[in-house]
Order: sequence, then C-alpha cells, then structure tokens
Amino acid sequence: MKIKYQDQAVVFNCINIMALPIIRCLGQQNINSYGFFGKGKEFNFYTNIIRHSKFLKEKFFFDDSDYSSGLINALVDFGKGQKEKSVIFLASDQDMIITSRHRDILKDYFLFTFPPHELLDTLLNKEKFINLAYDNNLPIPKSKKILSGKNIEEATKDFDFPFIIKPSWRDDNWLTKFHEQKILHINSKRDIEQQISIIETVDTKFLIQEIIPGSEKNIICSFAILDDNSQPIEIGHCRKIHQYPAYFGNTSLAEPIIDDEVEELSLKIFKILQLKGYASIEYKKDQRDGKLKILEITPGRFNRQFAVTNLVGLNLPYALYNYLLGREHKSSKIVYSKARWVSEINELRTIKTYIKSKEHSLIDWIKELWRINWFEIFDRRDIRPFFILLIKLIKLPFIQFWYKLKIRRMINKIYYFSSPLISRRLQIFLRRKLILRKKLVCKNIWPIDKRAAKLPGNWSGWPGNKQFALILTHDVDTANGHKKCHALIKLEQKLGFMSSFNFVPKRYDVSPELRSYLSNNGFEVGVHGLYHDGKYFNSRKIFQERTIKINQYLKDWNVVGFRSPSMLRNLKWFHDLNIEYDASTFDTDPFEPQSDGVCTIFPFLIPNNSSNGKGYVELPYTLPQDFTLFVLMQEKGIEIWKKKLDWIAEKGGMALLITHPDYMNFDGTNLGDEEYPVEYYIELLEYIKTKYEEQYWHVLPRDMARYWVNTKK
Ligand SMILES: [Zn+2]
Repeated sequence: MKIKYQDQAVVFNCINIMALPIIRCLGQQNINSYGFFGKGKEFNFYTNIIRHSKFLKEKFFFDDSDYSSGLINALVDFGKGQKEKSVIFLASDQDMIITSRHRDILKDYFLFTFPPHELLDTLLNKEKFINLAYDNNLPIPKSKKILSGKNIEEATKDFDFPFIIKPSWRDDNWLTKFHEQKILHINSKRDIEQQISIIETVDTKFLIQEIIPGSEKNIICSFAILDDNSQPIEIGHCRKIHQYPAYFGNTSLAEPIIDDEVEELSLKIFKILQLKGYASIEYKKDQRDGKLKILEITPGRFNRQFAVTNLVGLNLPYALYNYLLGREHKSSKIVYSKARWVSEINELRTIKTYIKSKEHSLIDWIKELWRINWFEIFDRRDIRPFFILLIKLIKLPFIQFWYKLKIRRMINKIYYFSSPLISRRLQIFLRRKLILRKKLVCKNIWPIDKRAAKLPGNWSGWPGNKQFALILTHDVDTANGHKKCHALIKLEQKLGFMSSFNFVPKRYDVSPELRSYLSNNGFEVGVHGLYHDGKYFNSRKIFQERTIKINQYLKDWNVVGFRSPSMLRNLKWFHDLNIEYDASTFDTDPFEPQSDGVCTIFPFLIPNNSSNGKGYVELPYTLPQDFTLFVLMQEKGIEIWKKKLDWIAEKGGMALLITHPDYMNFDGTNLGDEEYPVEYYIELLEYIKTKYEEQYWHVLPRDMARYWVNTKK
C-alpha cells in the first residue's frame, strides 16, 4: 500500500542534535518529518531524545555497520515506497558528503540542492579551503599548510604563540588519537614538542592557523537559504557568547544580530563560491585590522545554532522546503530581538570554565540566562524530548554531585538516624533490606579488604613479639545499655579481658560510680559524642560548639579517647578535641552512613600541622560491629567474626572490636527485635583465648595510642 503525503520531509541522521530543530521548524508548518537513525547507535544520547519529538511522523533505524551503504539503501527503500519526492534535510558533514556522492541515485526519490561535489569537498577540507580562499581573495586568518607532521617544527617558526593546528580532515587516524578534539591549541614551544610525537604518527595533512585575538563575542555567524543562483531566500546572523569546549567548540549560547557589513560580506562569498541550499559562514572580527576573517564555511547541512534565527522570525528549514517544492516563499520580516538561544547541555558543560577564567561572574551568567528565549531541547510545544533529557541528566556527573550532597544526606537521615518521619521499626526494616543488597555488591571488600593488611612503614612488630593486637571497646548508646554495663564488665573480668566503655553524656545520665569502677579495675572510659545524633558535621559551627562541651567531659572524666556517634567524622576537625586517640574509623565497613574505610588494620598518626603540632592516634575498628552482624544481617552465629579475626591474626594487625551492651541479651529469654544473645560475644572471647593463647597483645585503646606515639616518634 502506498501512502501519499502532500507535505513531508526526510531528516537524517537523527542521532545528531541538529536534527531536532529542523524537525520542529517543519512541524510548526504542519510538515511531517521522517527521521532516519543509525541503528548501531540506538542508545546514542541524542537518539533517545530526538525520537520522542511529536513532530516525527515515523522513525527508521538503519544498519550503520557500513554507514554509507546502510544510509543510502534505507533512503532508497523509503523513496521507492513514496508517490512523491520528499525533501532531504541533513545534520552532519558526513551525511552531506555521502548524499552528495550518491546524488544521482537519490535524485529520483528526493528533492535537494547541493553545490557541486568538488566544491563541497574543498570547503570541508581545511587545507584545500585555504587555496580556495587565497585564489578568491577571501579573508581568512593567517594560515599555512603542512604536508606531514614531520615538518611541523619548521613550519610553525613564523607563527606567534598561541596558534592552532588543525587536521585538514578529521579522518579515522585523527579520531583514534584525538577523539572529538577538533584542533590542537599550541601555547608554547613545549606544546609543540609534546604534540609532535603524536602528530608525526597521524598520516594527515595539517594546517597551522593564527588565533584571532579577542573573546568569543567577536565570533559572528551567517545562516542562509540560497537559490540556484546563490541569491538569498532567507538570511540571518548571530553572535556567539559561549562555546563548548570553551573558546574553540560548538556554540552553547548565542544571540541574533542585524549587521549590514556581515550580511554584505556573506552574500559576496555565497556568490563567489556559488553555494546553493543551506549555507553558513562563521567569522571572527579581527580587532587588529577591523576585518571579518572566515573561520569556517558549512555548506549543505544545518548546523547546531541555526535555530537562533528563529528568534528574529526566520524559519530556514521551511524556506528551503518551499524553495525545493517550487512553492512561493514569503521572506520573513526580521524583527530584532534581545532574546538568546542556548544549548542546555553544552552551556551546563562549559559554564564552569568561563566562571573560573573570571571572564564573567555567576551573576553575569544568570543575567544572560534570563534573556534566553529559545532552547535547543526545551520547547513547550514539543515537551517530551526535554523530559527525556531530564531523566538522562540524572546520570550526568553534576547531578550526581548534587545528589551526593543533598539527597544522600536526606537518605542517611532516614536510614541511620532517628527521624520524626520514620519509626525506629521501619528504619531497621529498611536498613535490613538495604544491607542485604549491599553485602552482595561489597563482597570483595567486606568483611575482608585484602589491601588493608599492608604493614606500616618501618614496622618492627608488636610488644613482646606478639602475633597480633586485641582491643575490645563498647559504645553505650542508650540508658538501657548503661544498665547492662555491670553484667558485661563481670563477664569480661571472669574471662580475663578488659575493655573501654564509651558513653554519651547528654543522652542519659552516666553514673560516676560506674566510671570510677571502670577506671579502678583496669578498664577505660571514653566519650561517645555528646548526643547520639547525626548533626555534628552539619556545620563547622555546630561541631565547634559541641567540641567545647566534649572537651569539658574529657577533662572532668579524666579520659583521652573519643568515638563519634555513627562514625560520622572529619579527622581534621578532630584536632579541636583534647584527645590522645580517636576510634571513629574502620578498615572496611561499607554499611556505615559515612562509608569510606581507612583501609588499614593498624593504628596511624593524625599529625597536627598547625600551631601546637600535637596530633592524635587513629584506631580503626577492624571487626564488624555487633549491630551490623546480628541486628541488621540477622546472623545466627559468629562465623564472620572468626573469619575476620583469623585473617587479622595471620596478617599481624590490630583486632579492634566494637560491641554495644544495648543490643546484648543477658537473660536468655525474651530476645528483643534489636537484641542478640550475649553468648555470641562470650563465644568470641573464648575462641580468642583458646585458639590464640599467649599470641596476642591485649591492650586498652589508650595504651595502644601511647605505644604508637612512642614508637613512631
Ligand atoms: Zn553509638
């Protein structure tokens, strides 16, 4: 069945963003577009955006493994099924060259107008273009051809720095070495020396060209639709404001201008070169002699920023369409506009560079944005491509950065800290789900991260030639945990162990009797923050305010050790604390809210490089926390503890364990949802005692810190 469409256009290759404004310009005049997409790039970033334009009547995906024949075959197949010829619109130089080469086949099915193939080839080839420019007296920047990279040093002698080197054609050779880079920017003799070895290996002809001084605002473009006599049907101009990559790339921000001098020169050049159909010229105004110099001529295919002419009331694709169909086209009346055109993606990628270079401030930029009235992707009348872009943006780095800052903090709040938004039960439920997933992902770094076994510099072993060190610590998070301390102390004493107890002084009353009992019986006391919340690091101010109070407790209790609630930490800020050691880090524990491990099973010094020079020792915990194993992972035994301990013993490191009396069940009945039998802990202590009798240095954290300072001085 043959379908007859009165008004239709064929646009390719729609993997290029230039296709979208063409499709929309035509769509606004009720012209259906048929989009051709290279299939091998089905997941190309722009393909997925453009294919959602409501103005695309139909989409064709062609096999682009052999690009040229794939494209031409697809076009011919399509053309054969149509009663009338369709108008062709192109979006890349490559498509231009291929279409031009096959113009004899395509002319039976399609309408188009191109300059002769030889001229196209000359215009697209930088080196051939110089000859053409010199022959026709066209104004171009000072340029020189070099036939091979070998002559480059000699050839650049009469150029002042900085200048650029361009390949005459970006062939595969160039693309594999320099990828998307269009030019080499040479600032100094050293740059040449650095590039020369690469350039020598690229078998392409080159061009050396001076850089016209001045900002990008001196770059001006003309866009025109020309008839077969190179007379303009429509013509418009713009000034560039930003480019991506900055200074030498594609337009990211531009404004329309009306400029008689530019128009006159462009018309002259179009005539000299006998261009037809779509053509554009990019100039830079040279402030040294006040002349416009040609940077680039693009024949036959629309370029990225042509849509800036929409702002003054032009519709170039529609003008070309009417011309090719032999219809009358009423030239638009140009209405000057202060509005601007932006490529959202390029502008976001490039703005950092401009602000960094002090070219303008963030405020200036926001003022410029205010005037934007035409977007590359956003369009109220065709909104779906923009939504697709938004979804894609989530994957871009800058959004990830934002996500890390804001959303992660929010998620952390929900997952790790008591929050009015969520009950404790639900929080534990969510954390259990999360941890099971994470455990799989992290199986190579948890419970053992092999890299953490690396010995410290000048390592001479533990005191008494012991195989490994053992430190037991307890964080007493709640009043309930505080109640169970005595039972825990008794248990350790019975088995011949000692430990440190870290209390949260502002969360519950810490019994002075308990503290003095601990101090007098070979145990240690430490400070576990002030409150058990996640707010310590919300601002430097909050931390400093709390530091004053924490230091007061350290002094009143006559203790030297600190552990931060939920292991939230900033080791630099900890210098404000009057401590000998901190124990808020871990070798590996991806399940903590601040999940980066320090990747060592040894203590290490945190020197203070400022004023008094007194640093502290960092004691990472190296065995998984009881809460992680028994409450979240709901382990029913101590296999993981044993496995990790054996590994630490084998590597001769420091086994440092955190357990919480809060979660220990001492009476053997009524095991709460957040409890585990204390027998697990007893089993571990007995395991250590029997398997490693006399082989470990059992020490309090305070004494470990002092030992570390003394041996490392
Ligand atoms: Zn705690």
